[in-house]
This record gives sequence, C-alpha cells and structure tokens, in this order.
Amino acid sequence: MSGKLAIHGGTPVRKTLLPYGHQSINQDDINAVASVLKTDWITQGPLVSEFEQRIATYCHVKYAVALSSGTAALHAAAFAVGLSHGDELITTPITFVADGNCAFYQGGTVRLADVHPDTVNIDPSCIGKALTSKTKALLPVDFAGHPCDLDDIKEIAADHSVPVIEDAAHALGAEYKGKKVGGLADISILSFHPVKAITTGEGGMVLTNNSQYYDRLTLFRTHGITKDATKMHHQNDPWYYEMQHLGYNYRLTDMQCALGISQLKKLDTFIARRRALVSHYNTAFHDNPTLITPTEKKDVRSAYHLYVLQLQLEHLTVDRATIFQALRAENIGINVHYIPLHYQPYYQRTLSYRKGDFPIAERYYDRTITLPLFPQMTDEDADDVIEAVQKVIHAYRRD
Ligand SMILES: *Cc1c(COP(=O)(O)O)cnc(C)c1O
Repeated sequence: MSGKLAIHGGTPVRKTLLPYGHQSINQDDINAVASVLKTDWITQGPLVSEFEQRIATYCHVKYAVALSSGTAALHAAAFAVGLSHGDELITTPITFVADGNCAFYQGGTVRLADVHPDTVNIDPSCIGKALTSKTKALLPVDFAGHPCDLDDIKEIAADHSVPVIEDAAHALGAEYKGKKVGGLADISILSFHPVKAITTGEGGMVLTNNSQYYDRLTLFRTHGITKDATKMHHQNDPWYYEMQHLGYNYRLTDMQCALGISQLKKLDTFIARRRALVSHYNTAFHDNPTLITPTEKKDVRSAYHLYVLQLQLEHLTVDRATIFQALRAENIGINVHYIPLHYQPYYQRTLSYRKGDFPIAERYYDRTITLPLFPQMTDEDADDVIEAVQKVIHAYRRD
C-alpha cells in the first residue's frame, strides 16, 4: 500500500487536520440564537422550559432540567439522590473524570467496577465487588453512545435499594430494547458540549420520572432557592425567597436553549449520518486482523458518539502511541477515550486504586484509538481516514 508515512517525511494523506469531533451549526441555528438577543430574556426565560419539554418528549420522560453543563448535570443528579459525606458512587474507569468528580463534589467518594470487553460499558458482573453499605448510587455510562446493560444494572440496584443514574452524555437518541435512552433509569444525564450529539456551546440536562428528584434538581440549579410560597418553611412576605439547600448557579441561558431547540430538530439526521459513516468504517476495517471494530448489541441502537477501534497489538510491531503519532502526522485527528480514572493522579491520591486493579479496562486502554466521526464529515473525509489507517497499519504490520 501507498507510500512513505508522513511521520517519516512522506506526504500526509490529508493536507489539513480532520478533527475527531465537531459541531454542526447552520444558518437556522445562528438565526435562532440571534433572535433571542432582541428579547427581554437572555438568562433563564421561556426557551429554557421549551427546550426541556422538547427533550423530555423526545426521550419519553416526565421531567427535564437544563443545566449549564453535563458536569453540572452529574453534580445535580448526585445531589438529587442525596449523595453526601461518606457516601459512595459506583462508576466505570473508562469514562470522563466528571463521572467520579460528582461524588467528590458532594463530599462522597467513588468505587470503580471493570468494563465488559465487547461494549466497554460497565460490566454488571463486576458491580458486586464494588458494592458496600455506603453505596448511594450506580452510575453507568453509555460509552461511545452504546447503551449500558440497563436491565441487569437496575436489578442489582433494586436488590441493594440504590438508584441508577445513567450517564447518557454520549447516547442522546440511542435506543435500548426499542426505547429511547433518557427515561429508563432513575435519573439520566445529557451533555450538549460541542462534540456531543447536539450542542448548546456548554450545557447539560437531567432527566427523571421522579417528582421528588425533580424538585431537588430545580432547587440545586438556582442556589437551593425557592420562590414558590407553597414550598416554603417560613412565613412569606411578597419579596420573600427561601434558600433550603446549598445549591449553585448552574443555569442554562435562553440563547443556549434557542440553539438547543434548533439543533434538536436535526438530531435524527445527525445520528443517521453518524451511523452511515460507521458502517462505511466497519466495512473497510472488518476483515483486517489487526483491528477490532465496535460492537453493537442486537437489542440496542447506538447513537455512535465515538468510533472506537481497538488495535490487535500482537499483529503490530509498535505500540498504540506510535500508531497515534503516525495517524496524527497523516492529519487524521485521532484521539483516545478515555484514560482510566484510576490512572489520574488525583484519583490515585484520593482512592486506593492502582494500575492492575481493572485489567479489562486497562487492556482496552492500551489498544484503543478514536477515529474522527461527526455529521458534517464527507464521504471523502471518511475515505481519507480509512486510507490513513490502512497505510499506517500496513507499515507496522507484523508478518
Ligand atoms: C461530555 C461528558 C460529560 C460532561 O459533560 P460537559 O458538558 O462537558 O460538562 C460527562 N460524561 C461523559 C461521559 C461525557 O462524555
């Protein structure tokens, strides 16, 4: 196959870098945001509840609470379930740091459970080891947009009387057993960061069918303050508001919600495009003995936030870092998701975990690369990625 690697001075497959993810913003989105600036509402106004209602309808869930980020949504979810000092949250090592941090924010701590090698989602059979009398919630993540094994996880949660918070930051629009992700766990969270399925710049949402959680979430978003006289503990004057909990300013603005509403109209098209690109990649890589393509279980429909390839290092003469650098040199903006939580210095200082504790997650981490995947990628962009991967793999193949 084609020529000298760019990392060795050859011509790169692409002239300019193709990023691994990118937002898709069109003129409708721009108009929607601009029109808000002419109204009286530029922080929380009518578009916040409209965006919440539209997401709730889309996900078939009763309540939706918009927050300033997915991280704020996780923090709010931890608060809603009552996680506090000394409590433990169980999550996966293969996720973004915010999933563990939300427990620390509340004065609690984190226990990890290893992942399943096929989906890289938390392995329900590993959760038992992490459960203690202090477990306050299970926090599985729909890694790369593939829904976690929710029924098994909910069964474990029910046996231990703890709620399930599903991190669906990757999975807006995904389906589990024929149902949209978002209303299937006790609480689900979304992120609207620019690389996610739809964006509001920064932004997030918490979804639930539980009215008590809903009340706590709305308080938490605004300093723990209520202005609803029927919910106050003390006598109320007309100006009276009451701070009932320690909350934050985690509000999302009307400008952002205008963008979210406009983006949501395109979500299904975005996912269809992601899935078309994924099948293009899968067809190209399926028969390559050095590569493992992503799994999609029969009873789910992934939203494909990420396209994750695993390298069969046994068939290569180099490690993942070299493949990574060689692909970057070809101007393919590959990435790695994620550095295991228990490798992070803060986590190592705070928890007693060490390298070696989660062998499946660690083996996955040594072998994984994330290829570019976003709705506005063209077929030619995808062909460039395929050509670069084949070029690099060919150069380092062990015969
Ligand atoms: C993006 C992301 C978050 C955090 O969302 P932000 O909006 O960036 O704060 C949380 N969990 C996962 C799995 C994510 O990918």
